[in-house]
Amino acid sequence: MELPWQIGEILGSLRAAGYQAYAVGGCVRDMLRGAAPHDWDLCTSALPGEVERLFLGRFAAAHTGAAHGTLTLAAEGLPVEVTTFRADGPYTDHRRPASVRLGASLAEDLARRDFTINAMALGPEGEVIDLFGGRRDLSAGLVRCVGNPKDRFAEDALRILRALRFAAALDFAMEPATLAAARAQKGALRFVAAERVAAELDRLLAGPGAGRVLAGCGDILAVALPEIADVLCGPPCPALAGRTPWEFVAETIGAAAPVPQVRWALLLGGLGRKKEGAAGEQGPAPEGESRAERAGAGAEQALRRLKVKRSFGTQAAALVRCCCMPLPTDETGVRRFLAHWGLATALWRMEAERARLAALAGGPGARCRRQGLERFEELVKEQLAAGACLGPADLAVKGKELLEAGLYRPGPEMGRALKELLEQVLEGALPNEKNALLAWAAEHKK
Ligand code: ATP
Ligand code: MG
Repeated sequence: MELPWQIGEILGSLRAAGYQAYAVGGCVRDMLRGAAPHDWDLCTSALPGEVERLFLGRFAAAHTGAAHGTLTLAAEGLPVEVTTFRADGPYTDHRRPASVRLGASLAEDLARRDFTINAMALGPEGEVIDLFGGRRDLSAGLVRCVGNPKDRFAEDALRILRALRFAAALDFAMEPATLAAARAQKGALRFVAAERVAAELDRLLAGPGAGRVLAGCGDILAVALPEIADVLCGPPCPALAGRTPWEFVAETIGAAAPVPQVRWALLLGGLGRKKEGAAGEQGPAPEGESRAERAGAGAEQALRRLKVKRSFGTQAAALVRCCCMPLPTDETGVRRFLAHWGLATALWRMEAERARLAALAGGPGARCRRQGLERFEELVKEQLAAGACLGPADLAVKGKELLEAGLYRPGPEMGRALKELLEQVLEGALPNEKNALLAWAAEHKK
């Protein structure tokens, strides 16, 4: 894989000026495993001011992390972070070094990095500087700390979450000593800001190894996400084919498409549930509704605490609620379902159900649920193909028509009449046609 020309040019210019310069970190890891890097970090012996001067009039520079020696060059569409070789001072808050020392050596700069796979440097001629066995771990599929894992996690607890995230995203295993240290130091995760927890969890959940990592590291995660503690300690359950609720959640997430709303909803779907309730089970409507409320409120609260984007939180919590409701298998029920939840939530709900069924793997009730899901999918397709009316916006009559027919003036009564018309159409009692709707409205006007 070739370096982008901008990277080649920046490295070349720095070297021509007598400095050392390398690509470093994630971009090197990704290039070596044959994936396209999504951002570019360079490290150099030049100080930020020297880098800025060197590219004056060529690439615009922004001091994005001045205290840490980082400068971002805008290299014709490619943002490139250039950081001066540095060594970290002591860590005092389990998150950040109290000070950093610029002017360190490349070896010191690599030694401060989190994992061996992230601690390699690459020169413009393709030379790889690999002081900690990064290439070996990359081909073995291992996340291993640089140096003593206990110390590294104690310095910065975010690294614990990063380790789990890389294991999930790359589908790698945790090297045993690294995993043991993550477990031993997990208490420090309480020092990690909620936004950072959310960002790492989001990337963890998106990864192909998410199910496996969640299954094996739930106890570690629960320090950062205490909301899952109840789900985590649930005993094995016959309704889940003998699995614990947490095992079931992990397996379901692993089986689901990596759609963030779906995977988050599956992760948080068991919150606010009565302890004896089995995760992922459906109940009849009245019980289902109150359970949906509890679960939805639990998810909503957790997502708010994690400070995720409000619109995302709303979508994921709605899906959690929706997942507590049984899937209708009749036309009217499906129209009402689509009208109530919206198409996007209904499609995510199907994906969640598919994943749960995959995790149930022929357990109790699985066949019946599969048939229910298939029937629901079929009916949803039919309703969409038929252009069915699924909400006020689809109704063939709006307030304007009721006004023109001299039936209603704008106001609460008109609103009620429109709602009633929609009910009749969803029910299938009336066709979604202007004349039929107006006639019915005239007849039923109070
Ligand atoms: P990605 O960009 O896919 O998240 P990345 O490895 O590039 O992966 P970044 O957060 O962009 O991760 O960080 C760039 C590099 O900085 C890492 O590869 C690693 O060498 C180093 N690094 C980042 N965060 C830490 C940390 N908390 N402790 C030690 N080194 C870190
Ligand atoms: Mg990166």
